[in-house]
Amino acid sequence: MKRERDHQFECGICGAEDRYLLHNVRHRTPSYRRLCTNCLLKDHRGLFCPFCFSVYEEPLPIDRSMCNKCPSISHKPCIPSNYPHHTPFICPSCSSPNFSFFNPTTNGDSPSGRIIDRDSARALVAAAKIAAVSMTKAAAMAKVEAEKRVKEATYAKKRAREALERLAYLAAKEKEIMEGKGGGSNYNGLYLAPPPPPPQITGKVEK
Ligand SMILES: [Zn+2]
Ligand SMILES: [Zn+2]
Ligand SMILES: [Zn+2]
Repeated sequence: MKRERDHQFECGICGAEDRYLLHNVRHRTPSYRRLCTNCLLKDHRGLFCPFCFSVYEEPLPIDRSMCNKCPSISHKPCIPSNYPHHTPFICPSCSSPNFSFFNPTTNGDSPSGRIIDRDSARALVAAAKIAAVSMTKAAAMAKVEAEKRVKEATYAKKRAREALERLAYLAAKEKEIMEGKGGGSNYNGLYLAPPPPPPQITGKVEK
């Protein structure tokens, strides 16, 4: 495996280099970014319970506590009774500036090895789920975007063709007038008013 250092291997928010644990997420369509588990969860606080790390499906839990400082939503029964920020409820990540959802501890025996505790493992799973949902949405939106672009391109081509036809028509009319041929009664020498569209466009338009 190549060892080159690249932004591809850095978290888009905190810059942490963690190639194995970065998640791809949609970020202001149509761009994407890679985020570490902690930044991804902090960036999507409304999507999971910060205590049990379950990712919310469409109907939100009824018995919930919303953080007073951020969009985080917690299952009320998940909040430990000894949690110090009950009223007003402040979510774990708002309760401390150094809070991190993902805290693998380095294994003393091997410098590269890391131990992931249960909460960090849950955080990792939640982040991976949120990233998967985000990328699925991104794929759907990319498809819609692509279809929109095709429609826009078709429309733009149509407009360009119409403009060219119009131009050819006006040029032909002008030439006609200049040569003193017909149609004179309706023209005062000014061609500002848009003439009615030509009845039919054929290859007969004079250059
Ligand atoms: Zn990060
Ligand atoms: Zn919960
Ligand atoms: Zn919060």
